Amino acid sequence: MSQVHYWDQVPEAWVVRCMRCSCIITCRAFDPRTSPEDAPKSALPVTCSCCRTTHHYHPGDIYRAKPAPGVQCPAWKDARPADQPRDSRERNTLAICASVIAAIRLHREEIRKSPKVVSTVSDSVNLAKIVLEKVRAS
Ligand SMILES: [Zn+2]
Ligand SMILES: [Zn+2]
Repeated sequence: MSQVHYWDQVPEAWVVRCMRCSCIITCRAFDPRTSPEDAPKSALPVTCSCCRTTHHYHPGDIYRAKPAPGVQCPAWKDARPADQPRDSRERNTLAICASVIAAIRLHREEIRKSPKVVSTVSDSVNLAKIVLEKVRAS
């Protein structure tokens, strides 16, 4: 029972939209194969797993869906920093730039996951981001 569920694989549950951060949070979980749980009939105190606030939700607010991060949730917005590449094409460009930089900087270095290689690669990604940022602004 220690299986980890990611956002896109989580099972359906009785959920509410968090009043504070807008995430869709589970208020009553059930296993659809063994226990087709009825909708909650009275107001329930639900603690948001994201922003940790507890509110009472009425049965009318509770519906069946998969829990998911809210589009307006500040925590999930923060998880997507502004300097991240915006789309996959930009991501590819960044990967190519970073590889070229890393290849130059790791000239004659033995290619294995050594601390030097790992740190040079992350330096190269940062450098490539700065380059992309400049290109975007020009
Ligand atoms: Zn949230
Ligand atoms: Zn919340």
